[in-house]
Amino acid sequence: MKLSLVVPCYNEEGNVEAFYAEVTRVFAENGVADYEFVFVNDGSRDQTYRKLKGLFAEHPESAIKVVSFSRNFGKESAIYAGLQKSSGDLVCLIDADLQQRPEVVVEMLRHMAEDEELDCVTAYQAARKENKLISSVKSAFYKIINKISDVEFVNGASDFRLLKRSMVDAILQMTEFHRFSKGLFSYVGFNTKYIPYEVMERESGESKWNVRSLFKYALEGIFAFSTMPLKLATIVGFFCSFCSLLYLLVVLVQKLAFGINVPGYATLVILVLLLGGIQLFALGVLGEYISKMYVQVKNRPIYILKDYLSHDEKDQ
Ligand code: UDP
Ligand code: MG
Repeated sequence: MKLSLVVPCYNEEGNVEAFYAEVTRVFAENGVADYEFVFVNDGSRDQTYRKLKGLFAEHPESAIKVVSFSRNFGKESAIYAGLQKSSGDLVCLIDADLQQRPEVVVEMLRHMAEDEELDCVTAYQAARKENKLISSVKSAFYKIINKISDVEFVNGASDFRLLKRSMVDAILQMTEFHRFSKGLFSYVGFNTKYIPYEVMERESGESKWNVRSLFKYALEGIFAFSTMPLKLATIVGFFCSFCSLLYLLVVLVQKLAFGINVPGYATLVILVLLLGGIQLFALGVLGEYISKMYVQVKNRPIYILKDYLSHDEKDQ
């Protein structure tokens, strides 16, 4: 069975050549012969594209495809483009920075071969090598999103996975603009096996993630895979109306039964602040969904192609 390696690359000039060399070495040692590389240059600002073009020219014996975007569209778009251009019966998504070892791909292939019922093998980080705080915030995120969403999210499961063609085709049918791969993989269903793996240190360059982008990514996930925040506005609104009715009742009883006058301005200030805040919050939540719909309705492409190199006859 032919394997396609889909490799998103953003500013990976120091890694792509080492990545190519490592994969070819490890695959040769393990008897993996029928495979292609689909490198996606996601608008890198360094020499990544030149290095990829070099690999393409220097190794006509290897099946290499290079997709290049007109600007940086993000890893999710790069994955989409890579899946589109892949031709293997099996497709593996793998980072270019050698944090995800090719040996693990060989292991994934073994699992896939052993059980024909499997459609996907996903690697998850056995032990996270990161800040304790970030780690616990991530765990909290997974707890929340699993509560409020219908699809299942597995903590620590990465995009590092091996997919069968049927699952790839299903993912490609999801043409939404705001892509949250972890959710899309669960949404399409199929049989997935999770295997632990150890994340290596980055070969060269630095991670594109920071606290801000992680937070943004978490919100993307929630808004893309749950409508609970919309319902939250209804629930909070209902709760507040109920409380204010109760309060009105108490005031009325005090006034009618005991003749006590409740000072009006304190009540007013509290009510205005509380209700104003809740209304703004609800509006904000609505705004999030509307802005996503707005972008989707414009139906802009998930990525814009600038160059495409391939020796594949189908591409000629
Ligand atoms: N990446 C990409 N587009 C981006 C950001 C990242 O294609 O806008 C690629 C990057 O080149 C790498 C992979 O996605 O191959 C994972 O990125 P990174 O190593 O920064 O993430 P981490 O491993 O720290 O989670
Ligand atoms: Mg990385």
